[in-house]
Amino acid sequence: MKKQGIGTRCVQAGYKPGKGEPRQIPIIQSTTFKYETSDQMGRLFDLEESGYFYTRLQNPTNDHAAAKIADLEGGVGAMLTSSGQAANLFACLNICQAGDHIVSAANIYGGTFNLLGVTLTKMGIDVTFVNPDDPEETIAAAFRPETKLLFGETLSNPGVEVLDIEKFARLAHTHGVPLIVDNTFPTPVNCRPFEWGADIVTHSTTKYMDGHGVAVGGALVDSGNFDWEAHADKFPGLCTPDASYHGLVYTKAFGRAAYITKATTHLMRDLGSIQSPQNAFYLNLGLQTLHLRMPRHCESALEVARFLERHPDVAWVKYPGLPGDKEHAKALKYLPEGTSGVLCLGLKGGRDFDNRFMDALRLITIETHVADCHSCILHPASHTHRQLSDTQLRAAGIDPGLMRLSIGLEDVEDIIDDLSQALEAAHQA
Ligand SMILES: *Cc1c(COP(=O)(O)O)cnc(C)c1O
Repeated sequence: MKKQGIGTRCVQAGYKPGKGEPRQIPIIQSTTFKYETSDQMGRLFDLEESGYFYTRLQNPTNDHAAAKIADLEGGVGAMLTSSGQAANLFACLNICQAGDHIVSAANIYGGTFNLLGVTLTKMGIDVTFVNPDDPEETIAAAFRPETKLLFGETLSNPGVEVLDIEKFARLAHTHGVPLIVDNTFPTPVNCRPFEWGADIVTHSTTKYMDGHGVAVGGALVDSGNFDWEAHADKFPGLCTPDASYHGLVYTKAFGRAAYITKATTHLMRDLGSIQSPQNAFYLNLGLQTLHLRMPRHCESALEVARFLERHPDVAWVKYPGLPGDKEHAKALKYLPEGTSGVLCLGLKGGRDFDNRFMDALRLITIETHVADCHSCILHPASHTHRQLSDTQLRAAGIDPGLMRLSIGLEDVEDIIDDLSQALEAAHQA
């Protein structure tokens, strides 16, 4: 059968009701599930029988939404987590332990930068951050015998830089490790990293996938393409017996779904960062219109970027969809349908002008959040990174004037009017 379009799959993938069953996915608000015989329950705990046992590991509502995400990304399986942070944590811990090493792009989301650079480091997993735009030989020098994965973001938050996924996949595979890509900003509507050689994809579903600012969540997706057995010495957790499941070997028992099965049956069992079924329901509702919302976010953001580019008070604008942007060529290759609704800008007037501008905004709200239907703005130097001086900000790679603007689904004329009047108002000291 011909593969259905991404829109059809956003609406329908992951759930096929039978006769008389609910058309929308049901919220299975139950911690536990019933069995007929003791033997059935026993086989479940040996992973010999499929079925649900406890919502800390799996829940049918979550699995409908996860199956939709796996389908959209073109993976063999997916798992929902309580947040995007948990998804990235699980993605790493599923194949890393104390003594191991990670290579990561340096321009990633601040939360993930801290997760890798502070928390995982304290747990004994060493991390080397690389400039993703460096030549391949330079990045290759960061790999060590104990390196277990390469990490990057398709579109970095907040810098909206495009990852050269093919280059990163080559680097990872030459060193016998998987490429893990956080695909939060583009969503599978705009980019499917597996098609470019990535092996594992993560998401903060809190952003466009939910899209309405209602539910924090994450997802981990397995392409099924990485050959763990070919590098069995690097990945003992997947390729040697798991004592906690009677000596089961994930690659032998689950084949291409080894990685995602281990994440569910081992990590989720032990760390318990499951998404609630209620949030999975909201997520699924968001996914059903993702293919309609993403193009609108991108069109409006491009129009806003063009407006800002021409405005005399604006020092610079970063949006990969702009023909003059340094990321534009990579955006055309990896994100031909559009990047996202997120752009960055700097104004000419200095810190006080920046603050007067933000305070004068009426429609666009000041928020830590990004990437949903409401337009919002964040100024890292005044908000998330306010403890740092301008010099410290620059050292951390953050322009003190950088503002992250997330274009929502309001009428673009109204968004532009709001920016225009706020820039005007900022001149009145
Ligand atoms: C927001 C975000 C995260 C963290 O997700 P939460 O759902 O807030 O935990 C991770 N990666 C990227 C790219 C993000 O934008």
